[in-house]
Parts: sequence; C-alpha cells; structure tokens
Amino acid sequence: MKYLEKNKNITEFSNFRTPARAKYFFEVSSRSDIEKVYQICAWAKSEGVSILFISGGTNMLFAFEEYDGVVIRNVLVWWNYDSETHILETCSAESIWEIAEDLEKKHNQDLWHRFIWLPGSIAGAVYGNAWCFGLETENNFVSCEVLNLETGAIEIILKENMWFSYRSSRLKEEKKYFIISACFDLSEKVEKYHSDVDNIDFRENKQPNGMSCGSFFKNPSREQSAWYLIEQVWLKGYKIGGAYFSEKHANFLMHDGQGVFGDMIDLIKLAQSKVRVKFNIELENEVQIITNKK
Ligand SMILES: Cc1cc2nc3c(=O)[nH]c(=O)nc-3n(C[C@H](O)[C@H](O)[C@H](O)COP(=O)(O)OP(=O)(O)OC[C@H]3O[C@@H](n4cnc5c(N)ncnc54)[C@H](O)[C@@H]3O)c2cc1C
Repeated sequence: MKYLEKNKNITEFSNFRTPARAKYFFEVSSRSDIEKVYQICAWAKSEGVSILFISGGTNMLFAFEEYDGVVIRNVLVWWNYDSETHILETCSAESIWEIAEDLEKKHNQDLWHRFIWLPGSIAGAVYGNAWCFGLETENNFVSCEVLNLETGAIEIILKENMWFSYRSSRLKEEKKYFIISACFDLSEKVEKYHSDVDNIDFRENKQPNGMSCGSFFKNPSREQSAWYLIEQVWLKGYKIGGAYFSEKHANFLMHDGQGVFGDMIDLIKLAQSKVRVKFNIELENEVQIITNKK
C-alpha cells in the first residue's frame, strides 16, 4: 500500500511513552487524506491487518513492542466559534482543553470551563464521551462528521443517533467510523450534575503530572473508588520497573520514562489480583490496553 510508512517509532503517540513501533503508519493531516484513510482501511481489511486510530493518545497503553498493523494518526486541526449562534465547529484532532481556554479568553464563553486541563482531542472526547465534574461531551454535542470505513461514505451523525452513555458512544461500540469533525451548540449550560469543585485547582494540586493516561481503572461503584482500593492493598507509590502508582492519586498509573510496557502490565495485574483477593472486586481498566490481536 503506497501511502504507508513502515517501521515507524510511535513511542511519543501514547501519553505513557513506553517504547513502541508500528509496522505501518499513516498521518491524516488534511481533508484530502480522508479518501486515503478509506483506501488504507479497505486494504487492511482485505489483508487481515488491524487498524488503530490515535488522536491525542491520552487514553491508550501500547501493550506491544511493534504494532502488527496500521497506526493511523489524526492531526486534523481547525476550529471556529460563532459568537452570535454559539455554534462551535471543530476538526477532530483539536485539543478540547485549548479550545475551552480560548473560548473563555477570546470569546467570553465559559460553558466549557470544566474542559480546561482535560487532555486529549475532540475525537477522543466524542468517542469516549469524556467527562469532567458534571460536564460531558454529549451535553452540547450537535453532530459529527465521520468516514464510514465500510462504505467509504462521509456521513453526519446527529446526537440522537450517537448512543452516548457513560464514557461511551456509538463510535466506540461500532468501531467502523473515522471521526473527521464535530459540531457543538454552546448556547445553553447543560450539566449532568452540579459540582463546586474548582477543576483547575483540582488538576494542579490533586493529580500528578507526568506520563500517565489519567485514572487507569474505572471506579467499581459510586461508593468504591479505584484509588481507595489501590491504597487499601498498599500499592500507592508501588513500583515495578518503570511503572508505578502515583503517591498523589493512587489510581494514576505512571511511567517514569525508563520502563517498558511489560512493567505497566505487571503492575496492572498485581493491582487487580490484590483487589480481587481482598475485596472480591474485579478492577476494570478505563484506559484502553492496545494489543496485537491474533
Ligand atoms: C492527566 C489526565 C487526566 C484525565 N482526566 C480525564 C477526565 O477527567 N475525564 C475523562 O473523560 N478523561 C480523562 N482523561 C483521559 C483522556 O484525556 C480522555 O479519554 C480523552 O478524551 C482521550 O482523547 P485522545 O484524543 O487522547 O484519545 P486517544 O487516546 O487518541 O483515543 C481514544 C480512543 O478514540 C479512538 N480514536 C481517536 N481518534 C479517532 C478518530 N479520529 N476516529 C475514530 N476513533 C478515534 C482511538 O482509537 C481510541 O480507541 C485524562 C487523561 C490524562 C492524561
């Protein structure tokens, strides 16, 4: 397949920065690349080769040395906010955090204040219905423009057809779309619940900086936080090779920059097994562990 780069170093494309390569690689940087994405995906399907889309890379752990398929990295940028209609249109690789900050500074629009300091792109936020203190991506979502990987058609999916739920969407369930852009209506504040938490203070003072993908495990229930369970099995601050759980927030799995993916997996398995034995609870990961599916 002529568009593909081979043997690409992709270490920098996941926020964990564990060393990784891709057998094949393509970067989507303009609208004219969208047709190529379809051709690459059709080729991959015919060859039985897997595909991985990456935008911000803040929700994925590479659990391989070499990805045995095609990594398609999205760098589609451009956005516009219309202060009269309150409509935000944005390409999918734009940073949701930077848009939220600019909306406040340049457009006096603070509806997305909660998204300031939320790492990742619009694509990642829409795909996983990213959420911060009562504000979910779905709240002001109108539609998104996608490439249908099965037909090659460019389609608009409206909110009512997006099947948004807790940290999920139709795009995550069906896995047959590449997200090109999205549209939001910021004329009305819609929150799942009200929270008095100062999100900027919270991010600065209660969460660690460094190589992580945020909270690694889902909270098993409203009453049981994953960080509490990890603390109770004495793994807060615990280290295996280059992987450790943060002293500041025990559910933040961190990489010190010197480790390999195996260190991360060993620590994940240790936490799951200790929590299972002590509490009879199965910790499920929030962050996607990307493997070579055989
Ligand atoms: C410090 C820190 C704090 C965090 N706090 C929060 C938080 O408060 N709330 C929260 O919800 N999340 C949080 N996260 C997790 C993460 O930021 C979000 O999940 C974010 O929305 C992921 O976006 P991304 O662009 O990095 O997605 P990626 O990691 O690039 O991808 C996520 C998924 O989307 C798919 N995907 C990416 N681009 C496309 C595309 N163009 N088309 C189709 N599929 C695509 C990928 O294949 C993957 O399955 C945090 C992460 C960090 C590092």
